[in-house]
Amino acid sequence: MNDPKSKSEDEEHVAPTNFIHKIIEEDIAAGKNDGRVHTRFPPEPNGYLHIGHAKSICLNFGLAEQFGGKCNLRFDDTNPVKEEEEFVHSIREDVKWLGFDWADREFYASDYFGQLYEWAIKLIKDGKAYVEDLSADEIREYRGTLSEPGKNSPHRDRPVEENLDLFARMKKGEFPDGAKVLRAKIDMASPNLNFRDPVLYRILHAEHHRTGGEWCIYPMYDWAHGQSDSIEGITHSICTLEFEDHRPLYDWCLDTLGVYHPRQYEFARLNITYTVLSKRKLLQLVTEKIVNGWDDPRMPTISGFRRRGFTAAAIRDFCDRIGVARANSTVDLALLEFCLREELNKTAPRVMAVLKPLKIVLTNYPEDQVEQLEAENNPEQPEAGSRQIPFSRELYIEQEDFMEDPPKKFFRLAPGKEVRLKHAYIIKCEEVVKNDAGEITELRCVYIPETKSGQANAGMKVKGTLHWVSAPHAYETQVRLYDNLFSEIEPDKIEIPGSLNPNSLEVLADCKLEPSLKDAKAGDRFQFLRMGYFIADVKDSQPGAPIFNRTTPLRDTWAKVQKKG
Ligand code: ATP
Ligand code: MG
Repeated sequence: MNDPKSKSEDEEHVAPTNFIHKIIEEDIAAGKNDGRVHTRFPPEPNGYLHIGHAKSICLNFGLAEQFGGKCNLRFDDTNPVKEEEEFVHSIREDVKWLGFDWADREFYASDYFGQLYEWAIKLIKDGKAYVEDLSADEIREYRGTLSEPGKNSPHRDRPVEENLDLFARMKKGEFPDGAKVLRAKIDMASPNLNFRDPVLYRILHAEHHRTGGEWCIYPMYDWAHGQSDSIEGITHSICTLEFEDHRPLYDWCLDTLGVYHPRQYEFARLNITYTVLSKRKLLQLVTEKIVNGWDDPRMPTISGFRRRGFTAAAIRDFCDRIGVARANSTVDLALLEFCLREELNKTAPRVMAVLKPLKIVLTNYPEDQVEQLEAENNPEQPEAGSRQIPFSRELYIEQEDFMEDPPKKFFRLAPGKEVRLKHAYIIKCEEVVKNDAGEITELRCVYIPETKSGQANAGMKVKGTLHWVSAPHAYETQVRLYDNLFSEIEPDKIEIPGSLNPNSLEVLADCKLEPSLKDAKAGDRFQFLRMGYFIADVKDSQPGAPIFNRTTPLRDTWAKVQKKG
């Protein structure tokens, strides 16, 4: 990894446990695999990658890096019905963006279709697989349950020659989808349901994104995965917990074939509060146009987080902090935002932007005068220097920074009250102007010339400092604010749309930004003082006309959670 992780010393956390790291250390000490470490990240190209995948990517590529090993990118493309080239491209882009490199080791399960077929024939010849005519429903019925053993299929004892013939004809396309499958012959009474003659091949007359019309039978996950690992010389095959019950079958296939045998390890998948990580539901959000595509900034996809303004370093830092365990748990979304703020606080230039403007006229400021005031770019980074911002008679402040009838502890602007304008002067509100409907349209204020920023407060006590933008110089643009896409803390438990937050997107059409922001390039990140971190949207920004997305507010809920806890 090139860029250093942004962790200040006082925030340095205790290294979280990663039990797989320990296993590999022991394996190396014991001289297993000649000290080789070779992992793989095996996405199915049937959707965009999400933050859960990021955990798996960081784990697999991270372990390879830590032990001087290798990690392959392997597309697990065994289901032509759901897989598309678009997803392959997005997966490549996302893994790269996260900062990982698979060099020339981009593989596809479909690369091995020929070998997997040959191995299936070997299994048939050894009397360990048979062609099944029962329907999917009948197979399920015959399988039994956890408390009852299964029944042997009437086709289980077909002679080898007949199996070979039928399997060859399945491959030739003589049978329609679902008419037959190839099953391993293991044990219909096994307490592990995966051992009750699992299906290895099914018929699917469908165009495959890579092999086209070459095949009409496709291997199941259990037949493809371990053998692909074996072919690639994987040493540690790391997957999520739901595959634990498949491990005996993983081992059975490799042992029965007598080929190189990698080891499978399972870890708990990532769950995050207020976040859906089910591919089915993410696809539903996209196809039902509940969001604007896979990279909608509210999506928990890697491309969504990227467009929202999250950095790869923050996501890697997050994956580091959550650790790798075997017990399922749910991580607070606020931790991810905390990691992000940690980084952006150090790197994002500070600027001023008024999102919901309220006009102010400084009645004692000369009409045609414009002052250029000095504003530091980043107090955390003195070398970032400063810039000039224009100040004039007409300004905008945030609507919420004024109250006509404020409560006691309101330290912002109110009639007769004073505040400091950041980088500028102290002002005092003298008059509230309203329209016929009684809405406030403008404030009339005076500025105190002796209180220019950097000088003394002229003996005045002000508690509040507001951001502002000079009205005639403002860059007007659209800014989008986001909230959780789901209002349920565990949205995976409720079907869409029941779990949706109706206020997840707020589009502000009439924001007033300091003029320097007109030149922001797509993808540039900023801290809008007091309002949060923002990014110039990479899709909708035009040169000289950027549009901004709020990445995250400044409020740090994680720190609060930590304190309370
Ligand atoms: P599918 O139901 O389509 O298999 P999947 O989420 O398992 O969905 P894959 O493309 O198969 O998607 O996942 C690729 C890799 O990422 C797998 O090794 C999988 O275990 C891992 N992975 C997926 N979701 C998570 C998650 N939430 N946390 C950690 N790892 C995950
Ligand atoms: Mg999967």
